Amino acid sequence: MSRVYNFSAGPAVLPEEVLKEAADEMLDYHETGMSVMEMSHRSKAFEKILTSAEQDLRELMQIPDNYKVLFLQGGASQQFAMIPMNFMKNKKADYIITGQWAKKAADEAEKYGEIHRVASSEDQKYSYIPDCTDLQISKDADYVYICENNTIYGTKYKRLPNTKGKILISDVSSCFLSEPVDVKKYGMIYGGVQKNIGPAGVVIAIIREDLITDCVLPGTPTMLTYKVHADANSLYNTPPAYGIYICGKVFKWIQSLGGLEEMKKRNERKAKLLYDFLDQSRMFHGTVRKEDRSLMNVTFVTGKKELDEKFISEAKKSGLENLKGHRSVGGMRASIYNAMPYEGVQSLVSFMKKFEEENFKDV
Ligand SMILES: *Cc1c(COP(=O)(O)O)cnc(C)c1O
Repeated sequence: MSRVYNFSAGPAVLPEEVLKEAADEMLDYHETGMSVMEMSHRSKAFEKILTSAEQDLRELMQIPDNYKVLFLQGGASQQFAMIPMNFMKNKKADYIITGQWAKKAADEAEKYGEIHRVASSEDQKYSYIPDCTDLQISKDADYVYICENNTIYGTKYKRLPNTKGKILISDVSSCFLSEPVDVKKYGMIYGGVQKNIGPAGVVIAIIREDLITDCVLPGTPTMLTYKVHADANSLYNTPPAYGIYICGKVFKWIQSLGGLEEMKKRNERKAKLLYDFLDQSRMFHGTVRKEDRSLMNVTFVTGKKELDEKFISEAKKSGLENLKGHRSVGGMRASIYNAMPYEGVQSLVSFMKKFEEENFKDV
């Protein structure tokens, strides 16, 4: 067996310890004589898995008691519709467009109400986060929506927008549990887990309790109503049980390392290694404004398409996989989520140095 360093943006690398534990428990979970995949979601064993996962997440993120934690399905993309359906009382919302995911969310919400795109960085290919200190927030906006870490472009909000008292809803799919957050500042935080937490198929939504009501847009399907899932503690129907089990293991793994403060330290150290290299390289260049750089998704180019392609294919031969940028932007992207070890980034930087020495004449 040989594992590669997997820089995929998602589904992405998971902690090896977690995968090994899951393998050990595959055929017989805690003397139940069956795999977690095979057990009833109403069984005692699964109930415990779900309750501990929620408790551990609450502890890690210090989620206040007046917030519900929901384990849902449908990917982050399904939330693009659920959010307006559940929260658009005035049928008006403000969106800040910092990339494709925010754009898609706004376009979807537009089916249900009036959307104001109050800021955007589309003018410079989403390579920065707009100034959000004094936006024209709509007086009767039901919420302000952001995508906090832009997976495709490699930008991240370092300061939350001034929403002028409106509730903030944030897609944190690609920065979930990468550093401490102040949950109180949000009406809702959500993300698909396949970037930084677990297997695809689970979406975690953390929502302030008073926002979860029966008052949803007419015609909202039962399955797309937060209250239904909140009242049933994520067991209205069969949840993505195995995925939740793996998420639970990842929560314990983060706890064992020291929690989100420690994650932040590790992630900063990894990102610094790579960004410092990019900043002095004659061949490779980062593609986003320095102060908006993501700790999770590092985007860069050589400036020459053929050289980018050569780099990606040679890196793959050296066990550094999935470094190709998103199909919409090209270049390279190294996703260095929580589970990517420091050694993985060291290997990448050494490889980049070597590649630069061998190929610089071509630039
Ligand atoms: C990947 C991603 C999505 C889409 O997730 P799906 O689970 O595929 O729907 C949405 N937002 C962000 C920030 C992402 O990184």
